[in-house]
Amino acid sequence: MLTSQEKINYLRSENQEFGPISLVVIQPNSFCNLDCDYCYLPDRNLKNKLSLDLIEPIFKSIFTSPFCRDNFTICWHAGEPLTMPISFYKSAFEIIENTSKKYNQTEFSFNYSYQTNGTLITQAWCDFWQQYPLSIGVSIDGPAFLHDAHRKNRKGGNSHELTMRGIKYLQKNNIPYNTISVITKDSLDYPDEMFNFFAENEIYDLAFNMEETEGVNDSSSLNGSEIEKKYRYFIERFWQLITESKLPFFIREFETLISLIYHQKRLNHTEMNHPFSIINIDYQGNFSTFDPELLSVKTPEYGDFIFGNILTDSLESICETEKFKRIYQEIKTGVKLCAENCHYFGLCGGGAGSNKYWENGTFASSETQTCRYRIQILTDVVLDAIEQSLGVTANNP
Ligand code: SF4
Repeated sequence: MLTSQEKINYLRSENQEFGPISLVVIQPNSFCNLDCDYCYLPDRNLKNKLSLDLIEPIFKSIFTSPFCRDNFTICWHAGEPLTMPISFYKSAFEIIENTSKKYNQTEFSFNYSYQTNGTLITQAWCDFWQQYPLSIGVSIDGPAFLHDAHRKNRKGGNSHELTMRGIKYLQKNNIPYNTISVITKDSLDYPDEMFNFFAENEIYDLAFNMEETEGVNDSSSLNGSEIEKKYRYFIERFWQLITESKLPFFIREFETLISLIYHQKRLNHTEMNHPFSIINIDYQGNFSTFDPELLSVKTPEYGDFIFGNILTDSLESICETEKFKRIYQEIKTGVKLCAENCHYFGLCGGGAGSNKYWENGTFASSETQTCRYRIQILTDVVLDAIEQSLGVTANNP
């Protein structure tokens, strides 16, 4: 007769195909205090809150899952996580630690992160965060004139000043943070202004997300081949400014690519298209896997992307459902099409199903505008620049 831990270990050895879980994304509240015009979330005006009663069942499911085979991050995300009070997270973190003591027999470690618009950060939040291994992701689109064009509060007012106040709190308290900037058509004329803004404010750990056609944002300002040319110039110029600068910039997109190139590593999937690398859980305990963006949306083709509920289904039990099998099969077909047809596959891993669905109407497809921006143009720019610096361009073999 196996003990419960021996049974979990057995299931882990039998379920190596999926996972390991690297990221658990939890929605503490569907509400967001901002109303950004490019947001994909349909329910960001509703105040649907996660009950503390769900925290133990959620983490019992994670810790006892065959897909929990490594350390992972718990990210509070979507709507705005700081619309929940600090007392909620104090209790939630305590329950998570206690659940870990009970069920995390292998003692995988976990840390916390928040993805926030930064407007509600105060000294009290920083005092709380300093007690935990944690990092904060702040959404800021660069200088005020770019940020405030899209990131409005619910009365139509600007949010940049409050977001910067939040970042200053993080800096003053030495709390690790990074920023994500959504690149819209408006950003593309201002690479120098973006660079100068981040340099002057000593914000060095950056990431760029493209404005995507997704969810209720049914059209991106980046659509069109002329815009793709402008984006190429934007990336070329940003690369030039970064490489000429002596400042300690870390740009997620450049670093990921350079790391793969220099270490001669290649990808055959991403966390977004591999089951159970990412677990997404909404305020009702409904869960999904693949892209976090899929959790809160519905489509005519697939309905919603909820595979189960933490109170009634184990993570592994959903693998046998028709819904999971259909979506996974289509995502796999899309990745295979990428592998067969795209020169960039090894640096990409076949992209994200949500982009393929929203742009091409099916997961079983390959190229999207998003991947041209995020992977193809970026790779061309970085490889050209590296080749030029090494004197191995086509004109100078
Ligand atoms: S760059 Fe696009 S087409 Fe190429 S592998 Fe990635 S997702 Fe597929």
